[in-house]
Amino acid sequence: MSASDVLIVGGGQAGATAAITLRQLGFTGSVVILEATAELPYERPPLSKDYMLGQRTFETCLIRPARFWAEQKIDILTNAAVTAIDPTRQQVTLANGRNFGFGKLLWATGGTPRRLTCPGADLASVFTLHDKKDADAIAAKLDVPRRAVVIGGGYIGLEMAAVLRKRGHHVTVLEAQERVLARVAGEALSRFIEAEHRAHGVEIRLGAQLREFRGANGAVTSVVLVNGEELPADFVITGIGIVPVVAPLLAAGAAGGNGVEVDEFCATSLPGIYAAGDGARHHNRFAQGEWVRLESVQNATDQAITAAHAIAGQAKPYEALPWFWSNQYDLRLQSAGLNMGHDTALLRGDQAARSFAILYLREGRLIALDCVNRTKDYAAGKALVSSGARLDASRAADGNIPLKETLAG
Ligand SMILES: Cc1cc2nc3c(=O)[nH]c(=O)nc-3n(C[C@H](O)[C@H](O)[C@H](O)COP(=O)(O)OP(=O)(O)OC[C@H]3O[C@@H](n4cnc5c(N)ncnc54)[C@H](O)[C@@H]3O)c2cc1C
Repeated sequence: MSASDVLIVGGGQAGATAAITLRQLGFTGSVVILEATAELPYERPPLSKDYMLGQRTFETCLIRPARFWAEQKIDILTNAAVTAIDPTRQQVTLANGRNFGFGKLLWATGGTPRRLTCPGADLASVFTLHDKKDADAIAAKLDVPRRAVVIGGGYIGLEMAAVLRKRGHHVTVLEAQERVLARVAGEALSRFIEAEHRAHGVEIRLGAQLREFRGANGAVTSVVLVNGEELPADFVITGIGIVPVVAPLLAAGAAGGNGVEVDEFCATSLPGIYAAGDGARHHNRFAQGEWVRLESVQNATDQAITAAHAIAGQAKPYEALPWFWSNQYDLRLQSAGLNMGHDTALLRGDQAARSFAILYLREGRLIALDCVNRTKDYAAGKALVSSGARLDASRAADGNIPLKETLAG
C-alpha cells in the first residue's frame, strides 16, 4: 500500500494551496494529492468569465505550472477519486479499490453541482458549469447564436448570461426567488444587477417555477414552466448551487451535515483529519457566531493555509475576512464581510453612474459591503469591516467623502 505523511484529497483551490503552503512552511515530509479528474490544480473563476469567452487559455488558469509540483516534491495522482476513509487504519480507498495510507489527511473535495430532478433534466445540452469539461462543452455551443436558458440567478448563472450576451445569444434567466443573488446580496444590488442584465438584452424571469425540459432526439428543445409556458431552448445552463462532497468523511464518523464541521484550525472531529474549502462548515468570526459554509476562492485559500499551518505544527486560527468578486459586462463586483444580521443598508455613490457601494451595518458597525466599480471603497471597507469600525451613517452615505473618513465620533 502506498502512503504519505500528508495526504490531500482533492486537487482544487484548497488542496493545491495547502500543499504549496506546507512547502513554504518548510515541511519536508511526503505530500500527495489525490485528484478525481484528469486535471492539475486550476482556478475555477475564469470558467465563467475570460476562459469561457476564449480570452484566456487553460494553461494560464493552472494554479502552478506542471513543473512546479515535481520541483516541490508534491505528487499529484489524477483520476484518483477517493470513496472511503478509515480513520483508525489511517487509510483511504480509491474508486479503483486501491488503498492509500496517511499520517495526516486534508479533505479538500469542494462541491458538486446541484442537479435538477425534473423530467428531461438528463437530456443532452442541459449543462452544469463546475469544471473544465463542463466549460469546454458549453464553449462548443457558443460559436453560432442560439437560444439559451440559464436556470438560477446566482453569480455563475449571471456571469454566464453576460458571456452569452457578449457572444450574441438570446438569453433568458429563470430565477425561482423574487430577486437574483437573493442568497448573497442585499436587495438594492439585486435590483441593480437585474436592470443591468435587462439593459443588455437578457430576459429575466423572477419567481419562475420549472416543470420540465422537453427534447427531440435526446437533446433539449424547450423549458416548460409550472404555468405551462414553454420557452424554446437550444441549450440550458443550470447554476443552482453546489452540494458539498463530504459523504466519505461523514460515513467515517466526522461531524457535519451540509459540509463537514471544522474548528478554527480546520480540524474535523476525527483526529488528524482536516478539511478546507467549499465543503467545510465553520464558525466564522464575521458571521455573528453562525456556522457558515463559504464558496469562494478566498475561503478555500485561507482555510487551506490554516490547515497547512496546523499540519506543520505551526497552528494559528482562521480569522480571515470573507471576500468575493464577480465580473459581469463592464461591472466589477466586489464584496467583503458577510451581510447576515445587518439592520441598516446604506447606499453610497451613484447607481446611475454605475459606481456605488452598499454598506451593511449592524448596531452602527460596518459588517459587510458590496461594491460595484468602486475599488477604493472596497479596499477601505475591507479594513473597516476587519476592525469592526463604527460609521457615521450620514457621512458614510455621502459618496464624496472617502469611506475611511466616515468613522463615528
Ligand atoms: C464557474 C465558477 C466560477 C467561479 N467564480 C468565482 C469567483 O468569481 N470568485 C470566487 O471567489 N469564487 C468563484 N468560484 C468558486 C470557487 O472556485 C470555489 O469556491 C473554490 O474553487 C473552492 O475550492 P475547493 O478547493 O473547496 O474546491 P474545488 O476548487 O472545487 O476543488 C475540489 C477538487 O476536489 C476534487 N474531488 C472531488 N471529489 C473528490 C474525490 N472523492 N476524490 C478526489 N478528488 C475529488 C475535484 O475534482 C476538484 O478538483 C467559482 C466557481 C465556479 C465553478
